[in-house]
Amino acid sequence: MEWPRPQTSMNLGVNQNVVLNENAALKPDTIPADNHNPPNSVRLPHSIHSIGRFDILFDCLYASRSGARKRAGAVRTISQTTTIVPEVSSMKRRLSLIVLSLLLLFNQLAAARPAHSQARSALAITHANLIDGIGNEPLRDMMVVVADGRIERIEAGSNPVPTGASVIDLKGRWLLPGLVDAHAHIADLRAARAALTSGVTTARCMGVNHFADIGIRDLNHSGMADVPDVVAAGYHVRPHPAEEFFLDAPKLADLMPGVSGAEKVRRLVRAMIERGANVIKIMATERAGLPDTDPRKRVFTDEELAAAVDEARRAGLYVAAHAHGDEGAAAAVRAGVRSIEHGTYLSDQTLALMKERGTYLVPTIATVIDLIEPGGDYDNAQLSIRGRAMLPRLRETAAKAYKVGVKIVAGTDTGYGPSSNRRLSHEVIELVAIGIAPMDAIRAATSVSAECLGVNGRTGSIKPGLEADLIAVERDPISDVRNLQDVVLVINNGKVALHRLGW
Ligand SMILES: [Zn+2]
Repeated sequence: MEWPRPQTSMNLGVNQNVVLNENAALKPDTIPADNHNPPNSVRLPHSIHSIGRFDILFDCLYASRSGARKRAGAVRTISQTTTIVPEVSSMKRRLSLIVLSLLLLFNQLAAARPAHSQARSALAITHANLIDGIGNEPLRDMMVVVADGRIERIEAGSNPVPTGASVIDLKGRWLLPGLVDAHAHIADLRAARAALTSGVTTARCMGVNHFADIGIRDLNHSGMADVPDVVAAGYHVRPHPAEEFFLDAPKLADLMPGVSGAEKVRRLVRAMIERGANVIKIMATERAGLPDTDPRKRVFTDEELAAAVDEARRAGLYVAAHAHGDEGAAAAVRAGVRSIEHGTYLSDQTLALMKERGTYLVPTIATVIDLIEPGGDYDNAQLSIRGRAMLPRLRETAAKAYKVGVKIVAGTDTGYGPSSNRRLSHEVIELVAIGIAPMDAIRAATSVSAECLGVNGRTGSIKPGLEADLIAVERDPISDVRNLQDVVLVINNGKVALHRLGW
């Protein structure tokens, strides 16, 4: 079934979901004023006494992007008016009135700002070799200016550094967008910090207990910069939800024996949405990471999958489908899911359908290697045997998907736990190993991943207006993508979260 481009739900505060149009979110001027970065108070320059100075005020307000975009747009129009108005006294009077009302309006708005507003602090990241996550070629010797948690501007050369800005001189190191892990299971703050220091500033959490992902997301949104932003799924939607779910939602006890039929699926999806999920994770086949399940086996009927997608769409959310086997994956694609997770046994027909429908593939190759190797998140003889059978097949499918033009996205499928030994850089290395161009593999972990998650209007690339989610690595990751493993700087919403330069 077809449905229009879904809307993206952006969290505008703790327990407050507001649905925004995705198309609007793509334009920097309409980036939602979420409380990621508490908006800066609008400061009126003291020296403004004459009409002639108001263009400066307007520019100043326009530059102060956070929270004031709509207003800035209106002001710009008026600002243009002032430049073409002839020197007529009645017009001047009218202008003075407009100006006066604007001043009053701005003062009211400034007063309405949160108490933790503070003076604007700029950070200049200089002498960077820049991979912006969008373009094909790196840009040499660039300066990125960050203010109020957002990327303010990008300039060639590093002179002059803006007055009063603090400076991080990269001395030719490589600056990239913060990584976007499209498939993680981050269940606590320790794991969240481990993800962040590996360079992941945004993670889509694809199933954890007790809605820990929503808690981490809300901490990030309330200004805790030492955890990544999270696109949260809550629990998996599957025929037998995790038992922990029923501790959180005892009222749904009648679903404990099993979730079958469209109506029960809808109720389970609604439970995630009501709890604040940003995405719905559904199982279209059984899991690979349990010794007793067959990952080829389909779960959920066409009707049940369609019901989940429809229920999510009503709330403006995407659905991501876990699927190894082709039958379940094809059914999920037909139902209109945003992405297929894993996709080991996808047929050529299903890949063609994904290309046609714009369905993303998140192959998570690195985690299948984890099934095989000792240690890590999985350490089980039977899973190791299974992993050896799956790995060549998954690599072949992902390579084929890339060739036919399916959008490939990087995800780890790791919990970033104490024994996790996979990071998003490893998945990027795997993508390059199957023949994906290094820049495409980097985009799969940044802008394309953000697009898959519906957050590309606020992160995933380096361009003015987006959140300042940035990482730096020592050496060129295009000539050798393994250089992505060694992250030396992480900036999360404009705040330095990891700083290993100079050692
Ligand atoms: Zn997973």
